[in-house]
Amino acid sequence: MRVELLTVGDELLLGDTINGNAAWLGRRLADHGVEVTRSVVVGDELDVIVAAVASALDRADAVITTGGLGPTYDDVTRDALAKAAGVALVRDPALERRLRERVARAGRELQPMALRMADVPEGARLLANSAGSAPGLRVELPGGVVYALPGVPFEMRTIMDEVVLPELAEIAGLPSVARRTLRTARLWESVIATRLAEVEAMDGVKLAYLPDPAEVKIRITVAGRDAAGRLAGVESRVRELLGPSVYGVDDESLGLVVHRLLLDRGETVATAESLTGGLIGAELTATPGSSGTYAGGMVTYATDLKRRLLGVPGDLLAEHGAVHPDVAAGMAAGVRDALGATYGLAVTGVAGPDPQDGRPVGTVYAGLAGPGDSLTVVAPRLPVPGTGPEIRAVIRRMTVVHALELLRR
Ligand code: ATP
Ligand code: MG
Repeated sequence: MRVELLTVGDELLLGDTINGNAAWLGRRLADHGVEVTRSVVVGDELDVIVAAVASALDRADAVITTGGLGPTYDDVTRDALAKAAGVALVRDPALERRLRERVARAGRELQPMALRMADVPEGARLLANSAGSAPGLRVELPGGVVYALPGVPFEMRTIMDEVVLPELAEIAGLPSVARRTLRTARLWESVIATRLAEVEAMDGVKLAYLPDPAEVKIRITVAGRDAAGRLAGVESRVRELLGPSVYGVDDESLGLVVHRLLLDRGETVATAESLTGGLIGAELTATPGSSGTYAGGMVTYATDLKRRLLGVPGDLLAEHGAVHPDVAAGMAAGVRDALGATYGLAVTGVAGPDPQDGRPVGTVYAGLAGPGDSLTVVAPRLPVPGTGPEIRAVIRRMTVVHALELLRR
């Protein structure tokens, strides 16, 4: 069973509305083992919709559209479906009666335009909408079937869950599907894909890579008989191949994982941040109960604050500037002692877009001062994504990940 999505609306093309419907439908259908093979966005234009539906049904068994079922003249999906099917639009008396009742109950006057919502392509079936006024439509065309749903996300989801998914599941005789996301840090997507080649080749197993700065989520999908049982086997093979860079599953953030680790060991951490401006503290405090493991932090952005608040030697700063491994070490030890935590975690570096003190963008040092006088400093090689202003956000996020990873080692 192959399904294509056709989301309709000028606002989607213009970027005024984010295409949440396509995202939700993609996830929902995948969760039910229905393969979405293509997703297309078109504007509110009758002939374009007709052509897009025809082209989709050349490839797929079914098309799900959203949007353009409302009363206004820019809502033309119903007209397009009638045209695609070569049938007339006919007014549905029951639908008209319901519309009139609804409007009367609300104490409003029916706009003639609103009656358009009672027009249905001849032979189409209505898909009950318990969440709003316009039902969805199911239209059969020679190439396959079209499910047309309203654009309003809440209504679209309701009809999908109540009517369309059960129907698709029955048609497709869907196999069982099991899915799990493994979260990794510090490994490149291409390295992961190379290591997982053998898993990718397994029958009924699909891997999807979802990269973030310095993190990659790997979604494993297993379809077919005993999907859940097989998933467990696949997951442990993936873990073997990737080693300790796998830090969590599904919704477990790095901050949560670090928090649990410290809690287990009865330890705490304090942070001293420069280029990340508090993002490490934010990640660590996003987890409920973080007060058990996070002492607090200092954002020592100005170079002199690294000396005054954290005791980094002034001559070190004068000679090398703030971006130096010994500065990261000094900040880490300083904040550990100042806040009385088991660990001090510190970062200093160049977030860009311009170099600083002669050091290129992406030069970052992360230091961890531990119990006793244990000290680790790393200088992760951060790939610099282009030259635009957006590199700041990426470098800062990568820095957060590499810093927190020090606590996991
Ligand atoms: P209505 O009866 O409200 O007119 P409709 O079927 O005509 O419904 P649209 O007019 O296309 O739907 O959209 C209605 C609302 O739903 C708009 O606010 C729009 O921003 C939102 N919407 C439409 N399509 C999408 C989409 N693909 N993703 C998220 N929101 C959407
Ligand atoms: Mg509309």
